[in-house]
Amino acid sequence: MENLDLPPKTYSPLSPVLFRRLLVFAVFCFVAIWMVDEASGIIVNFDAWAYPICMVLFGVIYLLTFSQWFQPQSLYFMAYVVVSSYLISTSIWHHLGVNGLFSNAAQWLGLNYVIAYLFLEVKKAVPTTIVVFVLTIVGHFIALRSHYSLEDTMGVVMNIGIAHLAYVVLLGTALKLRVDNDSHQARAVALEYYIQVDPLTNLLNRRGIERAMRDVHEGKYAESNRYAILILDIDHFKHINDQYGHSVGDQVLVDFAQTLKSLSAEHDVVGRWGGEEFLVITLDARPIQVMQFAERLRRAISCLTFHEGCQITTSIGICYSEEGSSFVQRLDIADNNLYCAKHGGRNQVVCSPYFEESYA
Ligand code: GH3
Ligand code: MG
Ligand code: MG
Repeated sequence: MENLDLPPKTYSPLSPVLFRRLLVFAVFCFVAIWMVDEASGIIVNFDAWAYPICMVLFGVIYLLTFSQWFQPQSLYFMAYVVVSSYLISTSIWHHLGVNGLFSNAAQWLGLNYVIAYLFLEVKKAVPTTIVVFVLTIVGHFIALRSHYSLEDTMGVVMNIGIAHLAYVVLLGTALKLRVDNDSHQARAVALEYYIQVDPLTNLLNRRGIERAMRDVHEGKYAESNRYAILILDIDHFKHINDQYGHSVGDQVLVDFAQTLKSLSAEHDVVGRWGGEEFLVITLDARPIQVMQFAERLRRAISCLTFHEGCQITTSIGICYSEEGSSFVQRLDIADNNLYCAKHGGRNQVVCSPYFEESYA
């Protein structure tokens, strides 16, 4: 199981591939509008220049997405600046008295907020829309005021201002809901992870082992046709606590866990079953390999040294998947073999007699 971190709150859901598609879509939109404007004969000088400039800029940004030098977020922002600058400037241009009040561009201005809240990082979206809002209002005020009375100008500007505020407030609320939802989901995933992990050793806890065991049974691992369960119990661990203290005991558990993890295969299930008992489910291994693996573990544990030269040993009981029909049954067999290892003098590996013969 890998470590899960909560995702940062400031993120953009836009992937570079999606971004490239959107750039192509933007060019397509500009071509379509250009053709409509040309066909209907309402193309104005401003757009006749602005359309190709924007398309070239989108093309340049598209090419930059393949370069190592630019962060995706910077390119998203550049594309946003192209779109919003065009929309604000064309709308202001149309509102200049000499160009007539009718403006196709004004109805597109809301896009500036939609794009910012959908695709920019959260921390950039808010200040960016404030700047866009102020530029839009001030620009339109100056353009209109140059030819119209203050009263008429204020009427139009107030109308734009209120409509844009509605965009900002509604999109801001939608964005907040999305961020909250994402962070709740990330938290739920993280919690699901933590309830399966032992906080001291970072190995799977009993719940995590049982779940992994279910996965093995359901065939989620390609290697899970045959497996062996190893139960490991630290010998005379109580003495360690009594002699060196509980914190040294804890450190022993941590080092013991690390040793198990480092010697096990990546697909093996390694967990703390409880107290000073650990469990390894080693997948796709023949009895001889399992016994060699268990011996390697036992020897590695006996080589560990702790506080004031304290050393430990471990007893190991094994059960192979062929020995039982359920996890509980196999666990009982492994536990029984562990009991035999303890009674046989500890610091040893015990498996069922049949497998001991096949091992020999
Ligand atoms: P045996 O060889 O028969 O297994 O003897 P043992 O002393 O290891 O077994 P016993 O069951 O008598 O003692 C287990 C001890 O493990 C008792 C308990 O205090 C200690 N223990 C369990 N969990 C923890 C833990 O998280 N930290 C520490 N420091 N000690 C723990
Ligand atoms: Mg013990
Ligand atoms: Mg025990």
